[in-house]
Amino acid sequence: MRRKLAAGNWKMNGTTDTLREVKALTDAHPDPLVDMLLCPPATLLAQMAWARGTHALQIGGQDCHAAATGAHTGDIAADMLKDAGASHVIVGHSERRSEHGETDADVAAKAAAAHTAGLIAVICLGETLAQREAGEALAVVTAQLAGSVPAGATAANTVIAYEPVWAIGTGHVPTLDQIGEVHGTLRAALRDIMREAGGVRILYGGSVKGSNAAEIFSVPDVDGALVGGASLTAADFSPIVTAL
Ligand code: 13P
Repeated sequence: MRRKLAAGNWKMNGTTDTLREVKALTDAHPDPLVDMLLCPPATLLAQMAWARGTHALQIGGQDCHAAATGAHTGDIAADMLKDAGASHVIVGHSERRSEHGETDADVAAKAAAAHTAGLIAVICLGETLAQREAGEALAVVTAQLAGSVPAGATAANTVIAYEPVWAIGTGHVPTLDQIGEVHGTLRAALRDIMREAGGVRILYGGSVKGSNAAEIFSVPDVDGALVGGASLTAADFSPIVTAL
């Protein structure tokens, strides 16, 4: 059985006063039946780890460097995220791929670094609107998967997040059939890449809200969500957790 995962990506949002949302969220779900993960900006990692107290809320970074240490001004190593209280790190988010030119090989190297540090890598992939309209979505995500999942990936150390670029922050969500088609294709492709493919959680991300979460979670092979905007407040994120 794959345990469901409600993951929030705060992106470049949040200051110390935003941590009140952590208390509201953990108070609302004192003993959740699903895994809950929040990925704040790096400046808030350690404080969020403190703010969760004894709650099982998991905390993740939003990116890491592929190297363990060294002269990389402005970057953060996976080990440092772990030291700050993280158990997860998002790698290969489409905003990193587009704004920082990250390739599948870069993403695989970052995921491998996360694994070496003992972190769970949340590997993101997804097609652009042009690729979807050209009928290339399945080929694109399959290639991204093959290129972005490193050797040594297991069901325990890897989560896949399918985030169609055109659905991120737009309010546009693929049809349930489209989501199911991609998730099923990713599951099948995972079997070619690794043992334990059946145990890997595949999240959907892109304009998930309380109002559409339940129907998205009803799709086979959708094991949770990676939520952006609606993860910033407990009021918005809590119904998504409940829908799982
Ligand atoms: P939104 O939920 O704001 O569309 O963002 C999705 C996302 O990019 C999560 O990583």
